Amino acid sequence: MKVLKFGGTSVGKPERMHSVAKLISSPDKKLVVLSAVSGTTNSLVDISSKLLKNDVEAGKQAIENLFAPYRDFVKQLYSTKEGQAKGNAIIDKHYEFVKSHAGKPFTEKEERVLLAEGELISTQLFQEYLIEAGYKSVLLPALEFMKIDEDNEPVLSFIEEKLTAEIKKYPDAHLYITQGYICRNPKGEVDNLKRGGSDYTASLVGAGIRAEEIQIWTDIDGMHNNDPRIVKRTFPIAELTFDEAAELAYFGAKILHPATILPAKKYGIPVRLLNTMQPEAKGTLIATKTTSKEVKAIAAKDNITAIKIKSSRMLLAYGFLRRIFEVFEKYKTPIDVITTSEVAVSVTIDDAKNLDPIVKELKDFCIVDVDKDLSIICIVGDFLAEKKGIAKKVFSSLGHIPIRMISYGGSAHNISLLVNTIHKNEALNALNEGLFGEEFEKVLATKA
Ligand code: ADP
Ligand code: ASP
Ligand code: MG
Repeated sequence: MKVLKFGGTSVGKPERMHSVAKLISSPDKKLVVLSAVSGTTNSLVDISSKLLKNDVEAGKQAIENLFAPYRDFVKQLYSTKEGQAKGNAIIDKHYEFVKSHAGKPFTEKEERVLLAEGELISTQLFQEYLIEAGYKSVLLPALEFMKIDEDNEPVLSFIEEKLTAEIKKYPDAHLYITQGYICRNPKGEVDNLKRGGSDYTASLVGAGIRAEEIQIWTDIDGMHNNDPRIVKRTFPIAELTFDEAAELAYFGAKILHPATILPAKKYGIPVRLLNTMQPEAKGTLIATKTTSKEVKAIAAKDNITAIKIKSSRMLLAYGFLRRIFEVFEKYKTPIDVITTSEVAVSVTIDDAKNLDPIVKELKDFCIVDVDKDLSIICIVGDFLAEKKGIAKKVFSSLGHIPIRMISYGGSAHNISLLVNTIHKNEALNALNEGLFGEEFEKVLATKA
């Protein structure tokens, strides 16, 4: 069985849902994971933040603004009266449910319940459309099998067991539909896999059923060599290894949720990134091995905090790093990049929720400096195969941009640089020309 995930823009308009239905119409077995209609989760975040602040009137207005366009959506999605009546009934039910939260006590628990609404709505609307269009399918409730633990980590064994049991209930079915992003936490409450989490759902369910392939269908023709929102001349990468793709996703390539690759890698399941708007494009294949071996891509992650930890007495005596890491462990704060010198260690974190207590504890045994508003730029490829001196190319491209930290050699496929966020766009563009300029000339020459 294959798993196919369609993101927010892929289901963002009625005609897109029609295209998705066509894309999944072949008779082979499929599990289809859907995101919320684009913009819906953002609206639900906005509604929740208003209700959390007890700004009930603004919350109610935001609820109206979210649901009004769904009426037109329903009109265009279905061509029959019955279809439209069913679509409207789905919207009515969810509208009433969301509205019932305005004016009642509202905490983060209720917020998580509201955030799940987007995927619940999109999957039901789509399922009704499939019925109208004559496709047979089964809607599997993700809240029955998607589960996270106390550390917000998915429980793969649970997912595997419950999802397999759900699928077994419908032995003759060929098409299963489910919600991305949403899950339950150990208290049994509705929760989620964080923004962009539908990719992660696809990979987790793919691992759970040992799918033959996981396809992530989105609005671009695969992973590009650089962030297309910031850099003009980018191109899709045909192949990436699991490790390369995992680095790019973790270090900010928005096309994939940061943790997407891990479950697929665990069982060696290939991940294909494909474009719903251009289904014939080759996209990107992510697998254990690739054929091409050079610098593959650049990604950047914002909101990074750097912490410089200096010790005049202990220098880098053994035990010193352990003490530092214990503080981060205690506050469940992962470190992304680390560099050391004789007298200091610099680390970066992107989750600064516990920055104050971390700094306080570190100050018990060292001098601490904190820098905010930084970005990690991550250059990914197979650097063992790169003979021409990748470091030289990187540094000459960035000649004019101040670099706060450099990490090279941690693995054979990653160079990480830390820059001030105000320099990020310039750095991404400069690296693009420096590392891929020749490639562009080749591409342009073949097109000419
Ligand atoms: P979906 O709603 O389908 O999950 P996302 O918006 O989450 O789609 O991800 C796709 C977007 O990721 C693209 O439209 C593109 O702007 C952005 N993106 C950022 N970095 C990259 C990259 N390196 N390659 C491709 N897309 C990228
Ligand atoms: N709907 C969720 C979000 O917007 C999950 C996803 O689209 O992947 O973050
Ligand atoms: Mg996404």
